[in-house]
Amino acid sequence: MQVRFWGTRGSIAAPGPQTIRFGGNTSCVEARAASGHVFVFDCGTGARLLGDALMADPTKPVSASILFSHTHWDHIQGFPFFAPAFEPQNTIAVYAPEGGRRSLHDTLARQMEHSYFPVDLSQLPATLTYHDLGEGAHQIGGARVVAQYLHHPAVTLGYRVEADGAAIVYACDHEPFGGALWRKDAPPGRLESILHDGDRRHAEFLADADLVIHDAQYTPEEYPAKKNWGHSTFEYVVELAAAAGVKRLALTHHDPSHDDDFVAEIERRARAAVERRRSPMEVFCAREGPLLRVDARGARPAAAPDAARPPAAAHPARILVVDDESNLRLLVVKVLESDGYVLSQAANGRDGLRLAREQKPDLVILDLVMPELGGLDVLKAMRANRETEAIPVLIITAHPDEASIRAGFDHGATDYLTKPFAVPQLTARVRACLARAGRP
Ligand SMILES: [Zn+2]
Ligand SMILES: [Zn+2]
Repeated sequence: MQVRFWGTRGSIAAPGPQTIRFGGNTSCVEARAASGHVFVFDCGTGARLLGDALMADPTKPVSASILFSHTHWDHIQGFPFFAPAFEPQNTIAVYAPEGGRRSLHDTLARQMEHSYFPVDLSQLPATLTYHDLGEGAHQIGGARVVAQYLHHPAVTLGYRVEADGAAIVYACDHEPFGGALWRKDAPPGRLESILHDGDRRHAEFLADADLVIHDAQYTPEEYPAKKNWGHSTFEYVVELAAAAGVKRLALTHHDPSHDDDFVAEIERRARAAVERRRSPMEVFCAREGPLLRVDARGARPAAAPDAARPPAAAHPARILVVDDESNLRLLVVKVLESDGYVLSQAANGRDGLRLAREQKPDLVILDLVMPELGGLDVLKAMRANRETEAIPVLIITAHPDEASIRAGFDHGATDYLTKPFAVPQLTARVRACLARAGRP
């Protein structure tokens, strides 16, 4: 496959003399298979230039699959300027994660309403199809494409395209799931030593890829002030990718406030981190323009079930919230009710366990530190009972120490979220927990 970066910037375009080397356009990456099919990861402002390049020979019809990670501005704003959409001989399939408040078609159409743009989405002459995707392995554009949820304050998918004997992963935007990456009682650098199940799952998604293109917006020094904004540090990405046996790593989604010298320094520090780990992985900061060849190496396909659409449920998912902190509990209930779920609540562990048994909800959101019965004891009791053992449990806690995170996962927690969290982060994680349990 051949890869070219058309946009490497995160959040908002940042053109100008300070960003001329690494580029100022927002996220857009082209991956071209030997068949000629073009995969486009995101359509930030870089998509305009990609579209022009694809139309350089107007007699050649374009066949493309656009894989949107999510629909934040910096990932969709170039779409109305993507020239192949304006020619009837072209075929473009557009994909994005399902589970947002609107369908992909609706979101893209709203961006092109007359207040914002002169051409309506329905007026585009190319053959356009819209697909809302879930996790799992899909057949797209003649390739196997594995999609997996990332950690971001919006429902966001990473994509792993396996074609021509090579594997390319695109993971923007994404933030570490856990606090520390490694368990203290195990040697760092191995997948089994990763503390949070979410981070391990993410590493397995990257495993053995020939090229990983990853969000690395921040330095470790910047990150504490930007926690919950949904982006990674280069250090986290390097450690995870090296442990996962990635061959080449492209750091991207550069912060708009980082000039070329700053990004070059990130590249230097990332390379030093790779050397310290004695890893053979090649790492670089993505820049707009150069062509990258990703040769067949026979990368093993990622283990992923074929994506099957969950059957339409007879009722909206029911969620039980167990937390003694009443303000937070009521906020969670209100937010999830407005997403269409049916909520019940308990203010202590004992009542929570009773309701879990009585109601058998589709998901339990469980605080750890509570009077009467702590969250971990509720979890253990749920797992020991046949009627509640399979119910997904999302733990939320203000005290994410290593021992409690490990205990949570050891006792069968589905996911683990640290307070304070942003509302969109909660809704994205709830969505992922339910989807993994086969709920639409
Ligand atoms: Zn972004
Ligand atoms: Zn985003």
